[in-house]
Amino acid sequence: MIIIGGGPAGLTAATFAATLKMKAFLIARDLGGQAVDSTKIENYMGFDFITGPELVSRFQNQLLHSHFVDHLMDEVTRIIPEKDAFHVVTRGEDTFLTNAVLVTTGMTRKKLYIPGEEEFQRRGVFYGNIPDFSFVEGEEVAVIGGGNSALQIVENLRTLARRIHLVSTSKLKADPAIIERVKVFPNLTVYEGYRTLQFAGENSLTTVEIEKMSGGKRLCLSVQGVFVAIGHEPNSALVADLVALNEKEEIVIRPDCATSRPGIFAAGDVTDAFGKRIIIASGEGAKAALAAKAYLLKKAGAEAIR
Ligand SMILES: Cc1cc2nc3c(=O)[nH]c(=O)nc-3n(C[C@H](O)[C@H](O)[C@H](O)COP(=O)(O)OP(=O)(O)OC[C@H]3O[C@@H](n4cnc5c(N)ncnc54)[C@H](O)[C@@H]3O)c2cc1C
Repeated sequence: MIIIGGGPAGLTAATFAATLKMKAFLIARDLGGQAVDSTKIENYMGFDFITGPELVSRFQNQLLHSHFVDHLMDEVTRIIPEKDAFHVVTRGEDTFLTNAVLVTTGMTRKKLYIPGEEEFQRRGVFYGNIPDFSFVEGEEVAVIGGGNSALQIVENLRTLARRIHLVSTSKLKADPAIIERVKVFPNLTVYEGYRTLQFAGENSLTTVEIEKMSGGKRLCLSVQGVFVAIGHEPNSALVADLVALNEKEEIVIRPDCATSRPGIFAAGDVTDAFGKRIIIASGEGAKAALAAKAYLLKKAGAEAIR
């Protein structure tokens, strides 16, 4: 089995595969996935509180030292089916033949794709509702987005930030109750109908430039932090032609993590499983490894009979 992705789902699947004595190979761009970005995890069993990097380092230790799993740090660019097996091709142009593939490629927060965004990522520009905002205490910040997740960030920043600029391309789309609560915050300025043009600064972010969509009026906001909350997208393009996806482009899975194509399993945030959380992704990864083993044993049995 080849496991693609090194987040909680992939790392748990790989550790399970090792304990199940499967011939497993992990290919991942990084070991940790989104979990590494969490500054405060309070909902992973066994730890009252742990940071993302600490938890990921424990995952890595378990995978590499307690149960060694063969792995390659690379990006999978293609999966080519051949009869009931698959060629897995990497960016580094390695090709591996496998009987089963487990896709755990997770999710990526939607980006703005504007100048300065890559440069200031994690140095002022953050995605989503991060668990610890204390680094912007007393500072001026911007939140980009107009949905529930953007407004929840505004609520979390309310008593911390000196001034909050909320920038949305449209009228706020969050639930009316949260809009009502947030709009009266004295330290909040709302810019509806504005697009974000660029991020700028020296060593860290200092400015975000926005533009009124009707009329083109431009404003430069002085900020120490920007929180982008414009949705997320599953990393499912790799298998879009091979398995069924839902309208959100998540991989549709059965309760045992099997996809619509025999031999391809999927687990974690990239799937339509409810709940995008570390413990859920880990649990799904474990389940997928068990299911893949059952599939491979059945297949080997059928081949032996033939
Ligand atoms: C800022 C932040 C804070 C969070 N806080 C919490 C929290 O406190 N508690 C909680 O439970 N959850 C939290 N989450 C959510 C949690 O991190 C995710 O639900 C979880 O990481 C999903 O795990 P996953 O393995 O499915 O996917 P991911 O963690 O997204 O991992 C996907 C992996 O696949 C790799 N990959 C993608 N495409 C390819 C490819 N083509 N080839 C090879 N590798 C590939 C990626 O590099 C990565 O290693 C947080 C998320 C963020 C962003």
